[in-house]
Amino acid sequence: MEAILKRYFGYETFRTGQRELISYIVNNESALGILPTGGGKSICYQVPGLIRGGLTLVISPLISLMKDQVDSLNAAGINAAYLNSNLKAAEEREILTGLAYKRYQFLYVAPERFNQLAFRQMLNQLDIRLIAFDEAHCISKWGHDFRPSYRQVIHFTRQFDCPFLAVTATATIDVKKDIQSLLGIIDSHVIETSTRRDNLAFKVDPTYQKEKMVREYVKKHQDDSGIIYAGTRKQVEALSEQFSHLKINHTIYHAGLSKNEREENQAKFVHDDCPVMIATNAFGMGIDKSNVRYVIHYNMPQDLESYYQEAGRAGRDGLESECILMFSEQDIRLQQFFISTSDESIQEKKKEKLEKMIHYTKTTQCLQGTIINYFNPDEHLKPCGKCSNCLSQGAYDMTNEALKILSCLIRMKDSVHRLLLIKVLRGEDDREVKDYHYHLLSTYGLLKEYETKELNRFLDTLLFNGYIHEAGGKMICHPSAKEVLIKKMEVMTHYEPVNYKEKVTIKTIS
Ligand code: ADP
Ligand code: ZN
Repeated sequence: MEAILKRYFGYETFRTGQRELISYIVNNESALGILPTGGGKSICYQVPGLIRGGLTLVISPLISLMKDQVDSLNAAGINAAYLNSNLKAAEEREILTGLAYKRYQFLYVAPERFNQLAFRQMLNQLDIRLIAFDEAHCISKWGHDFRPSYRQVIHFTRQFDCPFLAVTATATIDVKKDIQSLLGIIDSHVIETSTRRDNLAFKVDPTYQKEKMVREYVKKHQDDSGIIYAGTRKQVEALSEQFSHLKINHTIYHAGLSKNEREENQAKFVHDDCPVMIATNAFGMGIDKSNVRYVIHYNMPQDLESYYQEAGRAGRDGLESECILMFSEQDIRLQQFFISTSDESIQEKKKEKLEKMIHYTKTTQCLQGTIINYFNPDEHLKPCGKCSNCLSQGAYDMTNEALKILSCLIRMKDSVHRLLLIKVLRGEDDREVKDYHYHLLSTYGLLKEYETKELNRFLDTLLFNGYIHEAGGKMICHPSAKEVLIKKMEVMTHYEPVNYKEKVTIKTIS
């Protein structure tokens, strides 16, 4: 595996997650990789594809990326081709001939291609030894970018006797389960690396003066490249008009433009001729521009997956970048309207997702933490120290208090209601406490210096971080609490208790 990585791609070591995924495929077992944007998903099917030999079929809804991928494989001495609607008839014939002569190691295709019977018949003749599903969240109805044609492909590909590798940057639990059951991927073969992006500073700006804010921001960051996402074409046009008045060099992108205009404008942005792109969410899939310093959402998107994917186009080079969400109550109504016009069978689900998106605009918790938690409720978080919530509230180390609370909860037989736990921690002289003999515990009164209100906040933080669960009014220690109890993992909170001894304000980079 290492030899192939070095020989064809020039890298010495695998990144987190890559080795596991590749080993599964090499061993003929299907797998799902959830790796952040820029995390190196392509290598995960390219390396095992080369090891397995024969043909690797890569299914991707991103037509715009295929050419780049194929070009760079060819440059590395690997025979690859793509089939999509951008090809001329002669080019397509040449590739089909090449396939018949087993000339290629990789073939990239869009899901729509499978609608053609001739194409399906041709695939049956080929020596396919791996099928990769790129942007696999598009397979799932619960994904934010569901493509029905992509889902249909599965029924056809199941007949191939080869492993499947699905990769995506964004998958909620529902999407993950859906992909797993469609492709027959077992739990142990799902590799999920943190979706955390440390160089992104998230901000929520509940402003009533969006126009003014955007203008001032863009002027202040004139030399930087940035994307401004607006909710509708009309809004894109309106912003563009203002920017033109102000002589701000920018370009636009939305589905109402001709194909030519879209391609031209995209190129201007990617090649830094126009540093600012104003666009609807039609823009961005497959755009590989690493130096985007900010992504502003002029309107709130429909769900956190869309938001994180769009905002995540900032800072792919790893340098500090900002993701700003401007938000007004009107945005909620716009999204509710969009949902009401969508397929009825998924409206409920979409409403739920919208609620989570709205929660993001109102929470006082770390913004990046809130997003990560949405994708992976089991991941433990420290506040990022640079989002607008972390900055406005600071972050305080509550590891000591967490240790005491968790040990107390464990001694109380691990299943008690919140108020009783607080009474024991505060060492209260109480009937219920005595009935259970909790006043004899070594943890009785361990946090007597805190008010009930403050202990409640500590508990909320522990809940938010997943160390405890609250179900049916009972508090239960999660197995992950061990990380705090044994590994002394830090626990941070935004809440500053009144009699707090040690105040730690996280260093910020601005
Ligand atoms: P993704 O599809 O996950 O967004 P890519 O597959 O395009 O990411 O990879 C992002 C960049 O990281 C590419 O330039 C790729 O060559 C590079 N990369 C991938 N794997 C490694 C590795 N093991 N070591 C160093 N660079 C890598
Ligand atoms: Zn934060």
